[in-house]
Formats: sequence, C-alpha cells, structure tokens
Amino acid sequence: MQPCPPGWYERWRAAPRDATLRETDASTPPAESLLQRIWAHQRLRREAMATFDGRPLIVLHPGFPNPEAGPDFRDALLQFGAESPVTGDVEVDTRPAAWRQHGHDRNPAFRNVRLHVVWSTRPAEALALPTLVLEPLLDAPLEQLEDQLGATELSEFPAAWRGACAGPLALLPPATLAALLEQAAGTRLRLKAARFAARARQVGWTQSLWEGLFTALGYKHNVWPMRRLAELTDRVLSDPETRPPAPFEIQVRLLGLAGLLPDQPTRRRAENDAWLRRAWDLWWRWQAGVADCTLPRSAWRLHGTRPANHPQRRLALAAHWLATPDWAGRWPAWLRTAEDPRRAVAELERGLQPGPDPFWERHWTLTGAPLARPLPLLGAARATDLAVNVLLPWLRARADTGADPAWTVKAERLYLAWPAAQDNARLRLARTRLLGGRPWPRPLRAALQQGVLQILGDFCAASNARCDGCRFPECVRRLAAGEGESGTAPTGASPS
Ligand code: SF4
Repeated sequence: MQPCPPGWYERWRAAPRDATLRETDASTPPAESLLQRIWAHQRLRREAMATFDGRPLIVLHPGFPNPEAGPDFRDALLQFGAESPVTGDVEVDTRPAAWRQHGHDRNPAFRNVRLHVVWSTRPAEALALPTLVLEPLLDAPLEQLEDQLGATELSEFPAAWRGACAGPLALLPPATLAALLEQAAGTRLRLKAARFAARARQVGWTQSLWEGLFTALGYKHNVWPMRRLAELTDRVLSDPETRPPAPFEIQVRLLGLAGLLPDQPTRRRAENDAWLRRAWDLWWRWQAGVADCTLPRSAWRLHGTRPANHPQRRLALAAHWLATPDWAGRWPAWLRTAEDPRRAVAELERGLQPGPDPFWERHWTLTGAPLARPLPLLGAARATDLAVNVLLPWLRARADTGADPAWTVKAERLYLAWPAAQDNARLRLARTRLLGGRPWPRPLRAALQQGVLQILGDFCAASNARCDGCRFPECVRRLAAGEGESGTAPTGASPS
C-alpha cells in the first residue's frame, strides 16, 4: 500500500463541503449548533459585549452545556452593567423571535434564563429578555470559526472550565482518589439511609420502601406524581373481596389513579385495544371510589421521557412488585445471606424481575406499536440504580435501627462493591469538572460515581461556575500533602 501522501488529510479536511449539506446563502444565519460553540468557547470580542439595550455585559462564566431539554447553557455567571453578578441560564437562537416561536416563554424549564444570545435582530424586533447579538462581536471571520469549532463536541469543555479541584485531584494517586470518592459515597449512603429512617418513623418500613422505589421509577421528570401514587398503595391494594389483587388489576388501578389510562382505543392495534378493553372493564367499576385522589394527566411530564422510562411502563413493573405477597420482606432476608458481592448482585437483579407479562414485554406504552423483540420490564442498569439509590440505603437504615449491627457492615460492603451504573449527563458533567475528563479510577464501581455526585451536591451546589469560595480544592490539597494521615480536619468541620 502507498504511504499517505504529505498534506493528504489537511487537503481533504479543507475541501469544500457538500453543497447539499451546507447552506451557503450569506443571508441565512449560521446553524444554531455553531452559535452554541461560539458562545461556549467565547469566541467573541469580550470587552465589547453589551446587551441590545446598551448595558455592558461581562461573562464571568458562559455556563455548562445542557444536554437535556431546556436552555442551552445552565448556571452561567453574568454581570450586567454595574449590577452584582447573577447566576442563570442562557438560551442561544438565531433570532429573538425564536423565544416565542419555540414556546420558551410558556415553558417553566426556561424560567431561569437570564440572557438570550442571538445571531442578529431585525429592525424593531421585539425582545423578550436581555439579548446579546453575536454577529458584530465575533473575534474572527465566521468561516474561520466554523473551521475551528465545527468539529468540537459541545461537551468538550475548554481547559479553563474545569473545576478548581481538577488540578489537585489529578495529583492524587488513583488509590487515594478512589478512597476519597468512596468516603463521599459513604456519606451519600448515610444521608439517604437517614431519610429512609425518618420516613419510616412516620409511615413504617414497607411504606417507606414503596415511596423510595416509586420515586426512583419517576426519574427526574415524574418524581412527584410517582411519589403520590406510592402514598396511595393502601388504596390500590384494598379489595372488597379480600383477595390479593392480581398484577393486571393493580396495573389498571395504578394507571387509572395516575390519570394515564387512555379512554379511547387506538383502533389500529388489536393487542393494545384488547388490553384497554379489559382494563376499562375493571376501571369503570373502581374509579368512582377513588375519584378524590385520581391524578390529572397534567401532573405528568411525558415529553422528552425516554420510552423505557415512560411512567405507564414503570407503573406496570411496580404493580408486579405490589402483587407479590411480602415483596418488601424479601430484602432483609437477602441481605442476611449475602456474602459474595457478585452473587448478591445477581440475586438482587433476579429478585427485582417481575413475573411474565406478555403485553409489557412487547410494549413501551399502552398505545405504542409493539417492540421488534421482547424486552424485560427491568434492565440490569435500572436494577443497579434501584440498588444503590433505594434498596441498599433502605437496608442500611433498617440495620441502623438495631436489627442486627452486622447488617450495617454488610450493606456498606455491598454498596462499595456494587458494579457501576450507566453513564449519564450528570455524571459526565461531574467527571469533566472534577476529574478534568480523566478516566475513572479502575475498576469503576457505582460507589465512585455516587461519590462524585455527592461532591457535586456538597461543594459545587454551594459554589458557582467559577468555583468561588469552594473549600474542596483545599481539602484535596491537604489530603495530597499527607494531612489526611494525621486526621487534621478543617476548622469548623466535623468528621462524619
Ligand atoms: S465548585 Fe468546588 S467541587 Fe465543584 S468543581 Fe469547583 S472546586 Fe470542584
């Protein structure tokens, strides 16, 4: 084979892109994704920045790219004129009119937007909020910026965006870093256990577990309606004929109470419509007795929810658990006999799996098309989330109440050994800020991920995007200097 000729790659890279893929009309604004990169990397004449109404603008931090629904950047630090700096979100659009056209003005997720960054404005165009026009502020011609920034990932933060702790953390040997993260994870476990204990004092251990599980199944968008349904499990399980309801019956009750039972058949999908007919046969008799606590459909946020996390499917799973006599009682028994972490993980995953459910193994939702192949109602990744966020903290809380001191040690040991959870946007952001993008210590375990999240909550949430006033870098520096061995704690802090 011929060697690669000199300059080959560069020539190919510089060749004009396919005209069908790239809009070349000069009057067309650049793609929004390029504008986001220009903002993220602040490729602007920063000293000349001012809002459209003439107030000087200082960008102390452009914010962190938001990979989810909502504004493009979160937690920017901005100073308008002589005012004190404010933390808020930033939305990037080509024109000011997009703010209303895209419905941002009616979307509560955009409530904290402090700055609208746009490419250009039209004469007399109405502005809904402080607006920065990019076109006259670029620090280089647009084509150059496109060439330099076009291939960068928005999540590839400039080095200066790393947290102030990333440098000191990078100096820690991997074993010390892992031990520090484990300690933070231990704090997280203890705090979650304390919350379970407090709730159990009010409602009992079993009910506190249902509330924890339902809340976790709501993920971030539907935590509160799920929590409310968990509070209604007594009503769901009550039966005039005193027989335990079957999983299907509980599914119908939960979905009806949730306001998520469609009242019309699809008329296109026989399997879905048959399920709905059977469901309505039960629900029409039961609904009058629970009209006082049935949720409105508007309590749910379904837009932007991944199909696997759709509340209909998650309630179907929870119904199986509720239908199993003394389902909650199996977990203390599991912990008592758990010795080898690997076996314990496999047993827990088996214990969380529901019995067969032909409909839900083939559908994400009640009205959607059938899946190409059957999928279990609960995947391994979700089982890990439930283990580290709910079951192990709940068991640790029960152990703390004196059931058996050996349980506490076991619950902690399993927690520290549990396999890693699936990566997600929050973990990626945490790793970029804290670890500067460096790989996780190996082997990666859920406890290391939980530790990073705890630091995010304890330190990042108390500071700002520039890490002002954060004590964590000092904590790491002192650890690196060997002060950890002497047990020296910072003034005012109490070791947990
Ligand atoms: S706020 Fe503190 S913990 Fe968070 S990234 Fe900055 S220095 Fe690190």
